[in-house]
Amino acid sequence: MAQHFLLSAKARTLSLSAVARMTEDEAHARFTAIRFADNGGEPFCPRCDCTAIYTYAARRIWKCKACNHQFSVTSGTIFASRKLPVRDYLLAIAIFVNGAKGHSALHVARQSG
Ligand SMILES: [Zn+2]
Repeated sequence: MAQHFLLSAKARTLSLSAVARMTEDEAHARFTAIRFADNGGEPFCPRCDCTAIYTYAARRIWKCKACNHQFSVTSGTIFASRKLPVRDYLLAIAIFVNGAKGHSALHVARQSG
């Protein structure tokens, strides 16, 4: 008998308690790994898919060497132009994806404040 996916070890990679204990830097690194999973977790330009990028030391943004497009971890996602810390969005994602039947937007809003 096949095991339900949410009971498998692969599904337990983004637990709510682990995200709640993350620092903002850890949450940003995790969000980056998830966002750019197509490239092994390494950032690439969302505009031209170029993998050659500059990394800014002072800010959490990157710049494409090919088209000079500056982008962040949330560029091109529904979280673009964000105002909350990345950890809050990661918490909302963890709440949403760990529900067997999903969660409503109101439930996620209540849980994440
Ligand atoms: Zn580019």
